[in-house]
Amino acid sequence: MIKISIRDIPSKGLDIDRDVSMEGLGLSCEEVDIRTPINVKAHLEKTGNVVIAAARIRAEFGFLCARCLQEMSEAQERSYKFDFELDPAVEYIDLGEEIRQEIIMANPARVLCRKDCKGICPKCGVNLNVEKCKCV
Ligand SMILES: [Zn+2]
Ligand SMILES: [Zn+2]
Repeated sequence: MIKISIRDIPSKGLDIDRDVSMEGLGLSCEEVDIRTPINVKAHLEKTGNVVIAAARIRAEFGFLCARCLQEMSEAQERSYKFDFELDPAVEYIDLGEEIRQEIIMANPARVLCRKDCKGICPKCGVNLNVEKCKCV
C-alpha cells in the first residue's frame, strides 16, 4: 500500500521515491518472485477531477530461463501511468494497489539465462549449457 493524501498533492505536483517490500505492496511469493525491495518513483499531478501518476518501479525479479529452466534473476525497470478519478468522499489514493495489479498481470517475460542458452536435451533432459549428452 502506498497511500497518498490527495490534499497533500501541491499544484506543482508531488514526487515520491520509496522502497516498498513485496508484502508492503500486498504481493505474496506465490504470485510473483521479487528479490529486492521494490523501488517506486512516481510523479503525481492533480488536474481537475483526476490525479495522474507516472510511476517507475525497479526491482530484481526472479525467473526461470525459458529454455533450460535454470533459475536466475534480473533487475528490471517498468513504467506505468495511472489515472485516479477523484471522488469527493475519498481522501486518499493507493498507488501501491495499482502497481500490485500491474505486477500481477504482467506477462512473465520470456527470459533466457544467456543469449545463446542451449536449453535442455529433449531426449535425456541434460542441461546442455553444463554438459554434453550423447543423444543425436
Ligand atoms: Zn538457459
Ligand atoms: Zn540428451
